[in-house]
Amino acid sequence: MPEKKVHKMAARSVVMPAKAMWRSYFRKKPTRVITILLFRDAKTYKHWAKKLYKNTDPPYFGYYRPGDRTMVMNIATGTGTLVHELTHALIVYDFPAVPLWFNEGLASLHEGCRVLPDKIIGVVNWRLPALRKAVRSKRLRPLRELVTRKDFYGRQRGLNYAQARYFVMYMQKRGLLQKFHKHFRDNHRGKDAAVKAIEHVFDAKLEKIESDYLKWVMTLRWRSR
Ligand SMILES: [Zn+2]
Repeated sequence: MPEKKVHKMAARSVVMPAKAMWRSYFRKKPTRVITILLFRDAKTYKHWAKKLYKNTDPPYFGYYRPGDRTMVMNIATGTGTLVHELTHALIVYDFPAVPLWFNEGLASLHEGCRVLPDKIIGVVNWRLPALRKAVRSKRLRPLRELVTRKDFYGRQRGLNYAQARYFVMYMQKRGLLQKFHKHFRDNHRGKDAAVKAIEHVFDAKLEKIESDYLKWVMTLRWRSR
């Protein structure tokens, strides 16, 4: 990529969202360097993922390698995935034991967002239609299952992302996300910790929160461009 473009992207899609996340959620900053490799198109991305990391089938948008704290991105697909993976890279310093549903829910919220100096606001994105379809056909798993079982990357993976993303977005809409993050981070031990933390910040029972959440989901609309 031309140098000027790299600098612009670093300022807008790395530094600005990182600062917003530190201001909103994370007290602790990384203690080690995180490397971000941005490639201008699919061809160069695939070439270097193979050459550097022997990855012959990298995900479409990009991915994060927690082992050496390296993000590898095809930036032609947009900057959404960059902010998604950046969230994973930063959250672990503040909340090392963060459960997958919340880690992926917050990261996915940030893949479609408006970045302001002190906060990141999630907007409706491509993950909505699958969620609405599952709600309509009564196929969506109970929220209690999503936040207590350890099968996020299992069979329902795609739908788990959507359900977690929009639940995190719902907490943001209700003005409870910051409070939830802090409370859950400090009280995450135990099998039902997530349920207790959600009920604590909403001051209601999970089933009532879930029913309001699903009603809200059905009011959202997404149009692909
Ligand atoms: Zn992710």
